[in-house]
Amino acid sequence: MQQRDAMGPDSTPAQQPPAADAAPLVGDLDLVIVGAGFAGLAMLNRARGMGLSAIVFERGDGVGGTWYWNRYPGARCDVESLEYSYQFDEVLQQEWQWSERYATQPELLRYANHVADRFGLRGQLRFGTTVLAADYDESADRWTVTTDRGDRVRARFLVMATGCLSSTNLPDFPGRDSFAGPTYHTGQWPHEPVDFTGKRVGIIGTGSSAIQSIPIIAAQARSLTVFQRTANYTVPAYNGPIDPDYEAAIKADYAGFRARNSQMMPAYGSSYPRRDESALSVTDAEREQIFEERWRHGGLPFMGAFNDLMLDDRANRTAAEFVRRKIREQVRDPAVADLLMPRQTIGCKRLCVDTGYYETFNRPNVTLVDVGRAPIEAITPTGLRTTDADYEFDCLVYATGFDAMTGTLLKIAITGRQGQRLQDKWHAGPRTYLGLGIAGFPNLFTISGPGSPSVLTNMLVSIEQHVGWIGDCIDWLRRQGKQRIEATEAAEDRWVEHVNAVADRTLYPSCNSWYLGANVPGKTRVFMPLIGFPAYAAHCAEVAAAGYDGFVHG
Ligand code: NAP
Repeated sequence: MQQRDAMGPDSTPAQQPPAADAAPLVGDLDLVIVGAGFAGLAMLNRARGMGLSAIVFERGDGVGGTWYWNRYPGARCDVESLEYSYQFDEVLQQEWQWSERYATQPELLRYANHVADRFGLRGQLRFGTTVLAADYDESADRWTVTTDRGDRVRARFLVMATGCLSSTNLPDFPGRDSFAGPTYHTGQWPHEPVDFTGKRVGIIGTGSSAIQSIPIIAAQARSLTVFQRTANYTVPAYNGPIDPDYEAAIKADYAGFRARNSQMMPAYGSSYPRRDESALSVTDAEREQIFEERWRHGGLPFMGAFNDLMLDDRANRTAAEFVRRKIREQVRDPAVADLLMPRQTIGCKRLCVDTGYYETFNRPNVTLVDVGRAPIEAITPTGLRTTDADYEFDCLVYATGFDAMTGTLLKIAITGRQGQRLQDKWHAGPRTYLGLGIAGFPNLFTISGPGSPSVLTNMLVSIEQHVGWIGDCIDWLRRQGKQRIEATEAAEDRWVEHVNAVADRTLYPSCNSWYLGANVPGKTRVFMPLIGFPAYAAHCAEVAAAGYDGFVHG
């Protein structure tokens, strides 16, 4: 493969960010990357290191992906900062100083911008540009990528770094556009601060985004009405400044820390790993004490109290009942506490991590409305109507989540070999091999795609594992003088079966989660991520070592 000028005979990939009114790009490249979140930045950096010509198209006006869009009050990561960061550069991980145990959205966005600057990536980032279509030309083994700004770029490889939670889910309530006041979606929050002081606010949804923002909005607004369809489990974050001694100890052997984390099922949490014991093998008092310790530690390691919480319904119920007791202790009004108590399997929807969520319902200006029992019928000019009553407010917040994992990919008209459209191929759910390749779509790679551990892990670890694998694969093809690689149908079929079989051995498929696509009306119900990072990463390495077993290349 030849390294080509990016955009024409006498221009290397632009060294300056393209101006907003830049002329459309027309040219031939090695690689087009879609998305400038953490995945796109890492992929671009790897491509540059390999001497590949590349461009990144990004819908937003800046880098950061999830952390660019999700600017709602209280947005922060639920994986600890020292883990939720890149490991590809030792100097970067040593020099960057996180201020808190769990980083806020502004700090994560600063970090993404720092990485873009430090590694000189800006010249190949084209912001404010939505990719509309990608078509594979079999005769030339090239993708043609077209955008809403008229760009038409041909490239040998196409990497979809489009994120797993990047298409918002906005329920199609009757009268949705009739509301007279401002409306917000947590996943598309304005860039300027929103001031709720003195306002009556309504919020729909009680997932992670709502659970983080509700305490902050409640403290500011005149009143907050929370419309809850399904109660969710949340554990306290116990966030705070990073302990300098802890940080120093990690940084003294960052590589060792990263290696230990990569051996954890979710690729994080080695400093407080899962206990290798059944919840049913200890006495009630011991179990209570273990849950209590984890609760006081804070965060997602709560689910590591025992090794069978996601495998055995009876074990799971012990953890669920522990959290329900905590809700009873924290919420003064027993009727409100009862409504806040989740009934589903704990952990089958992603566990939330909060600061002051349940206590917020003790505030006199907060009202909880059960729209599971009496669903929302319509949005009205002054608020909303359920089958029970009318509610009035000045501002409306949708915390209604995302069309996860496939939403953004399926918005792009991707056409592979023989005119096959990805929308058609995935009509009954996503099908991939390793969550990296798709039969019928040569030279296209997905980063943290469906069928890979992605959203069940520390995303940064999964992203870097995929970027490494894709970079190595392209390098291998180049050295072999090959132009094309494509997953076989047989390998893909086996992989889809494997992902389902692993999920079916657990309690994950037991509730209506976005992992299953069950939050979006009409979406096919398929468990999309693969459970377990270490075995997956080892398998990907074996596939590569065996000359890309399960792929055809030529
Ligand atoms: P979510 O977990 O999907 O929650 C969406 C909420 O909206 C749910 O309570 C859902 O109710 C409700 N909803 C949706 N449609 C509705 C309708 N038609 N009527 C009434 N209620 C409706 O979305 P999210 O809170 O944005 O979180 C998504 C994911 O993003 C998380 O699971 C997590 O992976 C990630 N995230 C992470 C962090 C973090 O790192 N701390 C923060 C925010 C988000 P049902 O449950 O009944 O469907």
